[in-house]
Amino acid sequence: MKPVIEVAPEHRERLRRVNARLNVVFGYPKWREPLPAVDELVCTFLSQNTNDLNRDKAFSNIRARYASWDEVCEADPDEFMQVIRVAGLANQKGPNIQAALRRIREERGEIDLEWLRELPVEEAREWLLSFKGVGRKTAAIVLLFSLGMPAFPVDTHIYRVSGRIGLRPQAIDPDAAHRYLEAAADPADYYALHLNLIRLGREICQARKPACPSCPIADLCQFPDKVAG
Ligand code: SF4
Repeated sequence: MKPVIEVAPEHRERLRRVNARLNVVFGYPKWREPLPAVDELVCTFLSQNTNDLNRDKAFSNIRARYASWDEVCEADPDEFMQVIRVAGLANQKGPNIQAALRRIREERGEIDLEWLRELPVEEAREWLLSFKGVGRKTAAIVLLFSLGMPAFPVDTHIYRVSGRIGLRPQAIDPDAAHRYLEAAADPADYYALHLNLIRLGREICQARKPACPSCPIADLCQFPDKVAG
């Protein structure tokens, strides 16, 4: 069952206003075409501690080398690590990916995750979280983007900007921020809010030097060290 989280009314209201503003300024975002859930799960494993380019190269390497996820299950572990090496941490990611695919096949009889759509979102999330190497962000990405389920992924950009803007309590860790922001935002806004907050974090509210004078939500932001224009 989903835990009950007390959300401060000002956070809920600010989230709503920030989402509306970013949808006007950036436009309603469109991510790439959704991948099947198993592909997305593998992609999110690959994406840990690397950039999108190297993640995509590693994923393409897998596609070029193996004809199916079953073949990845059977692959020699050392060879598979070589195939994904460009994504880094291959000695962790390789075994985690192969173990996850094997477990899916053992439990379900095939390597497919579409059945998760039939579960309540909390059950689907807990099942994904039971895999080694799958954290709340990975699980939420698969749930939201591949399966169309109401989950809100919090990456490093969203964690930073949500703290600065004042969309959540300051003293909570990223796992708690997942739970809090998911409770505070309207599920209908998860998709656009996730993508637009990442864009804000990458282009404007960067870690070292936030460009507050050109920020489209400066009037809504509570960051005490906001840079004056
Ligand atoms: S006003 Fe500055 S700190 Fe606030 S969100 Fe914009 S860039 Fe970030």
